[in-house]
Amino acid sequence: MTKKMETRTCPSCESETEVVEKKVSIPVGNESFTTKTLVCKKCGRYALTRAIRKEMDAWGRKLSKNIVEPQPIFTEAAHQFAEGMAIQYGMKRVPFFRVLTTFYLNHVVNREDFQELKNYWETHVSRKFLNEGTRSKVSVPIRYLMYRKLQIFSEVWNTSHAKAIEESVLFGLAVLSSEAKSFEKLKAIAESLQQYITDVAQAA
Ligand SMILES: [Zn+2]
Repeated sequence: MTKKMETRTCPSCESETEVVEKKVSIPVGNESFTTKTLVCKKCGRYALTRAIRKEMDAWGRKLSKNIVEPQPIFTEAAHQFAEGMAIQYGMKRVPFFRVLTTFYLNHVVNREDFQELKNYWETHVSRKFLNEGTRSKVSVPIRYLMYRKLQIFSEVWNTSHAKAIEESVLFGLAVLSSEAKSFEKLKAIAESLQQYITDVAQAA
């Protein structure tokens, strides 16, 4: 079989060069995904095409190990409140953090009023979770699909995975604590979050 080879203008090195079909390794968290694609002969650039993403998704879904293990930091007050809530749902704290993060990334950040919500909870709701007690790290192992969501969020908001989890968890804790109930919108979110956690806890 002859190798695919064509001449194109490379968007990276901007020269008229040949692209050749080559094996590439794409870093995905601590893992790497290997595939074959057309690569610029001069600078090594390749396009992350829809086909590659699809192939990568299929690979990632089958991957049974964790892709990253961010270490968000929470205050004692946040850890304790989370522990108490997790127990109510029959869960452990770390899976509970993952559920809050998934809810935030799937159902909160894409809302039209996201910025308004973010401003509200950051200024009104979560003082004690931010300030009370010593701060400590926790490891949150993340699999592929959640990693991908985290990655998109981190790129859009220019933040780390750990910070993204901190934000998601603090939002969830604020929403679940009674302090949030004065804000009508958060009350509705609290109800859907409680339902969401219940569903996940039952499926586990
Ligand atoms: Zn190039």
